[in-house]
Amino acid sequence: MNNSNLLKIAEQFGSPVYVYDADKIKAQYKRLTKAFDKVEHLKLNYACKALSNISVLKLFNAMGSGLDTVSIQEVKLGLKAGFDPQKIIFTPNGVSLEEIEEVSKLGVQINIDNLSILEQFGTKHPNVPVCIRINPHVMAGGNTNISVGHIDSKFGISIHQTPLLLRIVENTNMTINGIHMHTGSDILDIDVFLYASEILFETAKQFKNLDFIDFGSGFKVPYSEGDIETNIEELGEKLTERFNTFCEAYGKPLTLAFEPGKYLVSESGIFLAKVNVVKQTTSTVFAQIDSGFNHLIRPMLYGSQHVINNISNPKGRERFYSVVGYICETDTFANNRRIAEISEGDILGFKNAGAYCYSMASNYNSRYRPAEVLWYKDEAHLIRSRETMDDILRNQIEIDL
Ligand SMILES: *Cc1c(COP(=O)(O)O)cnc(C)c1O
Repeated sequence: MNNSNLLKIAEQFGSPVYVYDADKIKAQYKRLTKAFDKVEHLKLNYACKALSNISVLKLFNAMGSGLDTVSIQEVKLGLKAGFDPQKIIFTPNGVSLEEIEEVSKLGVQINIDNLSILEQFGTKHPNVPVCIRINPHVMAGGNTNISVGHIDSKFGISIHQTPLLLRIVENTNMTINGIHMHTGSDILDIDVFLYASEILFETAKQFKNLDFIDFGSGFKVPYSEGDIETNIEELGEKLTERFNTFCEAYGKPLTLAFEPGKYLVSESGIFLAKVNVVKQTTSTVFAQIDSGFNHLIRPMLYGSQHVINNISNPKGRERFYSVVGYICETDTFANNRRIAEISEGDILGFKNAGAYCYSMASNYNSRYRPAEVLWYKDEAHLIRSRETMDDILRNQIEIDL
């Protein structure tokens, strides 16, 4: 997927447009699999909230991946994409008992993250094995928006409530077949992750019918050249050794599961947008693109930094630009960033646009959500059309006034 391919895609499908490289997704999946190849039973469940296009899901299904879902709609998408229900895990937070029961009926593995629902579900369906989400209270990464394992986080059942948890399991006579944690994004320190894993092992020991231990996700990917990333190979080596020792002590070869989203798809994606206006003020040069936080909200929501390249003029002399959108709201993608000289009409490419970009897009300002293209076998395949006025009006009801 070189610049000339990207420019052709922008021309053919219009801008803005999301483009995903299937080979990059496959390479990430393989790298993770390889890092854990000394685990007898490994299971990767792609966290599809990162990028939930049905063709992307089909690609994961074809690779043999499982699916991690957080809503019944994601479960249904997964089933539609061809996933076997047994290969789907439902890991919601704060959803209703009814939704959990409905998903369970579809044959999907349930993961419960609070004692109230656990007790209700266990009482009504003691024969359905469930996984439980534990909160080990370990702070992974530095950004509290994306760290979900710490003490005041809403996610998981606190390890300090283990006695209560055990009582519920005993009283309801339910089966716990999996133990899960997800400490949040951006694991920078493998030792912190391994420390959280120890807590999980401690909890796991107390359940006799486990089939798997799910270590969640939070692998950090590089956002720019030289940026730190999780050392997957080192993590693979260390966790494998520890996991295998645990299984020996437990007396059963358990499955080691992960549910990465960002790691598998972030780097595969590039977001292409066109520069509508170059606006010179007394202090700043703005490049205003035909998009905004309605299409890519991560910089405004999390302060994430997406590298931006001028695809139309990659060799141009670098100058400083603030890249902003066309939404009537402050929507700054980049502040005084060095980018190859920009002219109106140029196509800019935003890197790391595979995860949590399209899936967080909205119709704010009544704009259409962009098209999505999958670069697969050296060809561009449209996998979602740009919206139209019909989509904006769908479900709106005009009453007589
Ligand atoms: C979002 C989420 C993931 C994926 O996290 P990434 O940082 O994208 O890898 C995994 N598990 C659960 C439960 C999640 O909610």
